[in-house]
Amino acid sequence: LIQLYLQLNALGFIYREIKRSLIDMEEMFSLLAEPKEISDAPGAPALVAADGGVVFEDVHFGYGPEREILKGVSFVVPPGKSLAIVGPSGAGKSTISRLLFRFYDVSRGRVLIDGQDVRGVTQASLRAAIGIVPQDTVLFNDTIYYNVAYGRPGAPREEVEAAARLARIHDFVVSLPDGYDTRVGERGLKLSGGEKQRVAIARTILKGPPILLFDEATSALDTQTEREIQISLREVAENRTTLMIAHRLSTVVDADEILVLDKGRVVERGRHAALLAAGGIYAGMWRRQQETAFLQAELAQAMAEE
Ligand code: ATP
Repeated sequence: LIQLYLQLNALGFIYREIKRSLIDMEEMFSLLAEPKEISDAPGAPALVAADGGVVFEDVHFGYGPEREILKGVSFVVPPGKSLAIVGPSGAGKSTISRLLFRFYDVSRGRVLIDGQDVRGVTQASLRAAIGIVPQDTVLFNDTIYYNVAYGRPGAPREEVEAAARLARIHDFVVSLPDGYDTRVGERGLKLSGGEKQRVAIARTILKGPPILLFDEATSALDTQTEREIQISLREVAENRTTLMIAHRLSTVVDADEILVLDKGRVVERGRHAALLAAGGIYAGMWRRQQETAFLQAELAQAMAEE
């Protein structure tokens, strides 16, 4: 048992180290949204995002000239399909989502949505077409109702509640004494990470964008919460082009395509079963995650028996 405990402790340490180096995505996005050289091309039309098909075509990119972060990344996410991006910390996964939002321009190659280069359309229309569920949702200091309805201001109450139902948060909300009028955020009720993420999913369902970007939380969630988030995610991803930045491989098993990114290159791609059968990097990552899960279960059981 001591041995197990030591191993888990080491894992926990590594995990915390990795997590420390992560920056909350929403915060990162707002930082990146500061005025930059990125601006609308003169007379740029609005994006016509009908189906939301996404194409990355030989994309190269670096935050500065000295270091290339993406080194020729190509993929196609057909309308309504899902793509999961996995890989070690620093591989460039979040960078892909920032380029999709056009917080930066590619240095070579193209990013297309329904055949339109993101550099050729207005940023407002581009961002309206993409719904993001960030890792750590920051809620407004307002009611739960406001926080969900923000996805589409003025939406009728039935639709706000329907979105919350699909996101598996409605029952929890109505169980609170003040229901949807419960105040949340820093000065209100503290919601758990999983609850906050489900509020964000409800908001995105209400917004109804053709493209969904889901940045999975790195923090460990209990199995039940994780399962509920996966169910609500499946609801929102249905018939929507979905890009998932995945940290836990259990999220990606159903993806139409999985990209394994390493040091800015796609090193493997395919569906879960095929990648497992190939016995490469993905299969190794899967095995390690299974082992960790097994160790955790063993420890929990040993502690319960003591
Ligand atoms: P993680 O799983 O840890 O979130 P990631 O695969 O999403 O990692 P990215 O966030 O895309 O990785 O970062 C890829 C590389 O780009 C990292 O080496 C990172 O240090 C660097 N990087 C990220 N953002 C910036 C920035 N704003 N300026 C300079 N370098 C950056």
